[in-house]
Amino acid sequence: MNSSRTDAPVGVPKPLFSYRKYWAKRFGIAPFLPMTRAEMDELGWDSCDIILVTGDAYVDHPSFGMALVGRLLEAQGFRVGIISQPDWLSAGAFRALGKPNLFFGVTAGNMDSMVNRYTSDRKIRSDDAYTPHAEADKRPDRAVVVYAQRCREAYREANVVIGSIEASLRRIAHYDYWSDKVRRSVLPDSKADMLVFGSAERAIVALAHRLAAGESIAEIRDLRGTAFMVPRGWLPAGDWSEIDSSEVDTPGLLIRHADPYAFEPDKGSEAICASKTEVATAPTAKVVQFHSHTRMPKLDRTRTAIRLPSYEQVVNDPVLYAHASRTFHIESNPGNARALIQGHGERDVWLNPPPLPLTTAEMDEVFASPFQRKPHPSYGDAKIPAFDMIRFSINIMRGCFGGCTFCSITEHEGRIIQSRSEASILREIEDIRDKAPGFTGTISDLGGPTANMYRLACKDPKIESSCRLLSCVFPGICDNLNTDHAPLIQLYRKARAIKGVKRVLVSSGLRYDLALRSPDYVKELVTHHVGGYLKIAPEHTEDGPLAHMMKPGIGTYDQFKLLFDKYSKEAGKEQYLIPYFIAAHPGTTDKDMLNLALWLKERNFRLDQVQTFLPTPMAIATAMYHTQHNPLKKITRDTQSAETVETVRASRMRKLHKAFLRYHDPENWPLLRDALRQMGRADLIGSGKKHLIPSFQPVGTGLRHQETGTLAKTGNRKMRTTKPPRTPRCTK
Ligand code: SF4
Repeated sequence: MNSSRTDAPVGVPKPLFSYRKYWAKRFGIAPFLPMTRAEMDELGWDSCDIILVTGDAYVDHPSFGMALVGRLLEAQGFRVGIISQPDWLSAGAFRALGKPNLFFGVTAGNMDSMVNRYTSDRKIRSDDAYTPHAEADKRPDRAVVVYAQRCREAYREANVVIGSIEASLRRIAHYDYWSDKVRRSVLPDSKADMLVFGSAERAIVALAHRLAAGESIAEIRDLRGTAFMVPRGWLPAGDWSEIDSSEVDTPGLLIRHADPYAFEPDKGSEAICASKTEVATAPTAKVVQFHSHTRMPKLDRTRTAIRLPSYEQVVNDPVLYAHASRTFHIESNPGNARALIQGHGERDVWLNPPPLPLTTAEMDEVFASPFQRKPHPSYGDAKIPAFDMIRFSINIMRGCFGGCTFCSITEHEGRIIQSRSEASILREIEDIRDKAPGFTGTISDLGGPTANMYRLACKDPKIESSCRLLSCVFPGICDNLNTDHAPLIQLYRKARAIKGVKRVLVSSGLRYDLALRSPDYVKELVTHHVGGYLKIAPEHTEDGPLAHMMKPGIGTYDQFKLLFDKYSKEAGKEQYLIPYFIAAHPGTTDKDMLNLALWLKERNFRLDQVQTFLPTPMAIATAMYHTQHNPLKKITRDTQSAETVETVRASRMRKLHKAFLRYHDPENWPLLRDALRQMGRADLIGSGKKHLIPSFQPVGTGLRHQETGTLAKTGNRKMRTTKPPRTPRCTK
């Protein structure tokens, strides 16, 4: 048993900027964080305290993770160097700045490296928006693991800490779409000492100060938002308990056991891990071991860890994978989440509860760092597309309580909204006006993960802290949610009143069901902040896929459109709503896609850009895609009661679903004709208004989906979009 400090319960966290500054503060502020020894020499540094290794180009702007974290650590007094997009084929580039005194901080960049490098069809992309000249191939696949290994090779004794969205969303065993298999947590593969997940400021600042004070990284086990490897069965102290949630219900003898999804904190019926186990058997079922049910006194959630099914269990068993996913997501509210454990071989991955959100004052101070708001001078005039996109935009908040199952924002940033103050945001607009080269008076976005969640929160902090729901807006808007848009309206008004600012646009995604709660907000937005088109994301029209996405019904879109059109007309503006949809999302049938296509046709929508569902690591929808089980519901082995989620996996069927979204593209017509005939809807082929696609084919078109021929050969056989339910499989 380790006797390390375990004082990280829910409560008031240590303010982020209250630490005594590190002695190196005397070196002052670096114009840019150094990327070479020569720059370090100019600053008078003999070494770096922390070296951030990143897969992105170094842009000194708060929208780039390495700059945000680097400047934050600099404000704490540390000397921070940056190694950007290093050659990963040897350890040489990782020695460029010498050995860090405290640790290497390794990130893949702002995106998961696989999402960055590959399309949803698993094709390699020809460009990279986070690289000078948009050059491709400047980062490896699964960059966190590769970079961390090279850091270790460069300096065997250096501490290695991994972070960023890639590490965050691969912190437990996860389905990896690109290799079509369940991979281990990145912790054992990277051989990192620690992983920081979610918004990492609190953990990384505390870690740096404690290492600087002489603590060993192996002793630092109490920081929220961190994960690390421990010996099997390790607990932080003698007063901790472990709940074994590594199995699920199965048909057979009824044995009451621990409810792994307990919605009430401190539920008294939780069982603890016990050596004695009971075995339930049923003639038709796999033998499943339940842990003995012992009525226990209330367990202290801050001294309790839940054991998920191990990597070895989930890699072979879709039911347990879905169960692990469900448990993982339920334990995500920092107000009540417990620590999680997942076995990997003979060791455990230990995950402390998620980080506590930053206060408004802390957010303001993080964004007040002396960012240059431009790329490092070594890039010269090279264009970095991701920077061009955000150079005149302002991030006003973090987090999202929408919980859309295909999106990772809630998992990464948390669902408690962390907003900046109005004064801080207005100051940044003035900063852009005064300092940003090329600013012509237009702020391109005043937003965040969701444009209109600024300052929205649960009405009661106590309820928020004990809530176990995955979304505040699904299946409907929670009665406890404060939906007052007045602070945002006021912010918009003040922003556009700033001298020298001609326009303030809102380009971030809008949660239109929330916006409906405030017609005044919709009016303000539509009258002043839409640049001709407003993109919104109903994602689908049909109830089946929408329920699996945790998105509102399409009726809400219609209501929003009425308001949008009304206020656009009143403002004398010709403006359009551009709806976004996802093809091939789990829970979507061919018929759902056909209905969506008919909906689009009826409204004369001809979408240019459409997206096919991309299963990103750890998203709930990814668990559906991989397992065909629905982690939004209790997971069971009972095939009678368990839902089988329709899942489109075959490449040609994913193409078909995408083709429905672009029914107007002649290239898709042969594929759609075949599909419509096989669905018994040949009545939709023809040249009339009621038809979806014509029967003729323009010369030279329709060659893209050559495999259509194989579809045609299926004759009258009904096309499947769902693979048959899978049984546990062996990967060897
Ligand atoms: S608003 Fe509702 S769903 Fe959201 S935290 Fe409060 S109680 Fe939970």
